Amino acid sequence: VNVTRTAPAGAPWLQFICRVCGLIYDERLGDADSGLAAGTRFADIPEDWACPICGVTKADFEPHVPTTLPTRAPAVPVVAPRRAGLVVVGAGRAGWQLVQALRDGGYVAPITLVTACSGDLYDKPQLSVAVARHLPVTGLVRETASAAAVRLGVRLLAHTHAVAIDAPRQRLRTTRGTLRWQQLVLAQGAMPALPPQLAPAHVWRINELAAYSALRTQLDGSVQRLAIIGAGLVGCELANDLALAGHHITLLDVQPLPLAAHLPALAGQRLLQAWQGLPICFIGAVQVAAVDAHSGAAAAWCVRLQDGRSVEVDHVIAATGLRTPGRLATSAGLAFDSAAGGVIVDAQGQTSVAGIYALGDCAVVAGRASRFIEPISRQVAAIAARLLGRDGSHATGPAAHSAELLRVKTSALTITVKRWAHGPGHWRSERDDAQGLHMAQHGADGQLLARLHAQLAASSTCQIRRW
Ligand SMILES: Cc1cc2nc3c(=O)[nH]c(=O)nc-3n(C[C@H](O)[C@H](O)[C@H](O)COP(=O)(O)OP(=O)(O)OC[C@H]3O[C@@H](n4cnc5c(N)ncnc54)[C@H](O)[C@@H]3O)c2cc1C
Repeated sequence: VNVTRTAPAGAPWLQFICRVCGLIYDERLGDADSGLAAGTRFADIPEDWACPICGVTKADFEPHVPTTLPTRAPAVPVVAPRRAGLVVVGAGRAGWQLVQALRDGGYVAPITLVTACSGDLYDKPQLSVAVARHLPVTGLVRETASAAAVRLGVRLLAHTHAVAIDAPRQRLRTTRGTLRWQQLVLAQGAMPALPPQLAPAHVWRINELAAYSALRTQLDGSVQRLAIIGAGLVGCELANDLALAGHHITLLDVQPLPLAAHLPALAGQRLLQAWQGLPICFIGAVQVAAVDAHSGAAAAWCVRLQDGRSVEVDHVIAATGLRTPGRLATSAGLAFDSAAGGVIVDAQGQTSVAGIYALGDCAVVAGRASRFIEPISRQVAAIAARLLGRDGSHATGPAAHSAELLRVKTSALTITVKRWAHGPGHWRSERDDAQGLHMAQHGADGQLLARLHAQLAASSTCQIRRW
């Protein structure tokens, strides 16, 4: 990357966060992956530099309040196990980011983090680009949960499931006993939702690091055949990435084109064209009837389609959407949106029961679950302000953006949709050539609703990496 230095020496180091995937660019550290030396000022980075995780450009980064504490442990009290304080359920991006914001904001009360997984910190969006980025699975963890717990003065209960909430008595029942809380935050994420014809034991579901690591352990070292059921964001990105590793992918969807819920048909067609150099076979407009264990030795699974066809594969991945199980929320009498699959909260992250908040993938605001990284910072700022006893309007997090950004990280054809408004509209192509596709969507009154830009990969970035 050609960098022209302009910033004065001695100016404080700044951080910038990618609005799409949450990657933090720290001027002090630079970004070796994308050729930026330590000490490279953000202002000096060329405008066409791309986020090394999701590929959006510099314009889609915004200033970020540093969240990394000094290496020495902060002056927070060691948590006495029986003292009630804040209990956070879930140690994904939302849970950890909230804890960090609270400690940064001077919150000294005890915090207990209860999480069903290990709680190790990693960037989930990397799970669907790890091959393209040459990332070994072992390199995905940024910080272990135990190290983060010490750094932030948190009592960590890893591999512990929250089972039920007694709201009037302020108790949380977990698989390791009952905890008292003064305030409770649900950051429990969402779980892959399987249609009834898919038995959980027959399919992989890639929504967290442990499952992804287990899949890669099975895949690495030999070329295998995979069926991916569901050609939404996760299904398409995994298909692209695992195909880069040489695996033969059959991608199945009920819609005739991939990403039909997010993109106009023309963009879906361009994605299929861009995949022609990769071992991806897309079969659209089909319903999966069943996934059966194969008795023969040649393949482990037979994916039977309702039209009578079948596909024989070594592994099946279901990427059929997410929803938050309602059991925990409803045990506390929290309002729960069954259609959107999440806990109903207001703009400040408050659930229908005072003292209980929710954020991240498990939260539904105004009837919509927004299962992306970008809203989490705003939700964290609002909830942290409430817990710190400050007016939410003074929250330090970024304000709501005028445009939503969607990035499809399929390396063969990377697609960005910038959306200003939702509603019925008509997509029109503005440019469609060898470099890519530009489209705009307008409503009936001519209002611009969204813009789409799809960029074809340079062939070198989209070749199969042989083992
Ligand atoms: C492959 C993939 C690629 C993605 N790419 C992008 C992208 O490019 N850009 C983007 O914006 N978003 C992307 N996303 C979505 C994004 O990663 C999520 O929106 C975000 O990570 C959600 O964070 P969270 O903390 O709310 O939930 P999670 O990360 O799911 O964390 C939930 C936590 O709750 C715990 N938990 C669940 N139930 C319980 C329970 N009963 N008791 C205790 N603990 C519990 C879990 O163990 C976990 O620690 C991607 C997702 C996937 C799967």
